[in-house]
Amino acid sequence: MLNIVLFGPPGAGKGTQAEKLINRYNLKHISTGDLLRSEISKGSELGLKAKDFIDKGMLVPDEIVIRMIENFLNQNSNSNGFIFDGFPRTIKQAEALDKLLSDKGDKIDIVISLEVKKEELIKRLLNRGKISGRSDDQNIETIENRINVYNKETSPLIDFYKKQGKYRGIYGIGTIDEIFNNITKVIDEYLK
Ligand code: AMP
Repeated sequence: MLNIVLFGPPGAGKGTQAEKLINRYNLKHISTGDLLRSEISKGSELGLKAKDFIDKGMLVPDEIVIRMIENFLNQNSNSNGFIFDGFPRTIKQAEALDKLLSDKGDKIDIVISLEVKKEELIKRLLNRGKISGRSDDQNIETIENRINVYNKETSPLIDFYKKQGKYRGIYGIGTIDEIFNNITKVIDEYLK
């Protein structure tokens, strides 16, 4: 098994890199953002609940996303491993993930953090909003709110994973392939 957390603020490039990494290492991609958006488009009860939080740039409650991850892990138990994208986002989620994996005799191997400065994130997210139509990428207030939520609630995970010796920072500005190469160097070094 190889379990990787792809970490970083909104707009850091996690989804783009995750898509490339799953092919290279034959892993499953779990994006809580994608799972939530799919619930919203199905119009499910969970989706309706999540939409309010997402549209304001706030985090969806821990219990909801932890349950989604638990279901996904159970439904894909024969996988080679997972890339967690956009999860965990709080200490509570990270502790729950450690517990879910350790109950299966498994663990997070490494945490790859894409480091991108705020001005670049805002530029990328506004641009993505034009292309994808994502409701939470449309205005600067929601985007700034998401970056603030990241700084306040998610960035404490940096220390959490540093203490576990799992944290690897990667400079997240450059071409997609340059960044991908730097990520694979770190993973291949770990696998040696
Ligand atoms: P993302 O696609 O990862 O940028 O997520 C989009 C939005 O979905 C976030 O701004 C949150 O509102 C919600 N979301 C995604 N993942 C999580 C998570 N792990 N915990 C709480 N909310 C989440």
